[in-house]
Amino acid sequence: MTAHGTKGRMAQVCALGIDVGSTTVKIIGVDAEGNLAWHLLEQADPRVEDQVERLLARAATLPLSSPPLAGGTPLVATGYGRKLVRQATRSVTEITCHAKGIYRELSHGGTLVDIGGQDSKVISINSKGDVVDFSMNDKCAAGTGRFLENTARRLGVPLERLGQVALSALEEVSISSTCTVFAESEVISLIAHGIAVEPILRGLHRSLLKRVVAMIRTVGLVPPLMLSGGVVQNQAIARMLEEETSETVIVPRYPQLMGAYGAALIALEQAN
Ligand code: ADP
Repeated sequence: MTAHGTKGRMAQVCALGIDVGSTTVKIIGVDAEGNLAWHLLEQADPRVEDQVERLLARAATLPLSSPPLAGGTPLVATGYGRKLVRQATRSVTEITCHAKGIYRELSHGGTLVDIGGQDSKVISINSKGDVVDFSMNDKCAAGTGRFLENTARRLGVPLERLGQVALSALEEVSISSTCTVFAESEVISLIAHGIAVEPILRGLHRSLLKRVVAMIRTVGLVPPLMLSGGVVQNQAIARMLEEETSETVIVPRYPQLMGAYGAALIALEQAN
């Protein structure tokens, strides 16, 4: 579990947002102005209800929550497991929450691409912060973090180094399979033929991004292009998406927290 105070100053937490994703669970506290006070992040546990209970108990002990969070603190749940958060005052879709979080963080609209552990989405946001259109892929691992994790496991490169290794490649191997299972077999075959790890990894990133770009096309790209989700911590994602689209890509300070942040902001509106 990681727990971080995201602002240097003390502020009382007035509202909470929780994003129960398929891979990680994030909980965020915001102060009366909607500033991020702290966050907790854990790998998702299949026993969602127990995990949420544990996280909320832990949240109540965080210093910025003083006086301790009362049962009445509004809590909005989002993400794949949002309906399982019985403590929530409301549940709201990831689309709405991601848009809310990113708009507050960056103060402008555009096209948001969220790449999570097992799903990806493209959300078109207008200049007022409203969702205009979106596309979501939660049926297939291609175009999600899972695609890179499964295929890269075969290359023996740790998750945190995937981007760095891919960007260090002087050449790129084209991966023809978009399906995660077939791409994994393709990687095994390339290694067997003596191909180096770096160009294979770069090709895997390219394959993931081609899927993402196809989704962007279905929604229509209205610049600027923005990124959120845990996979964005891989530096090759933003860099190679820029190559693919010829657009500048903006990454917020806490890309993995945008859904939970948006949920907390909606909870705050509810409180006021
Ligand atoms: P979800 O909300 O769908 O549960 P997240 O947005 O939290 O997913 O993203 C989780 C995924 O982010 C992980 O499955 C992993 O692929 C990726 N990820 C997390 N940390 C890193 C990192 N440091 N470098 C690269 N990828 C990462």
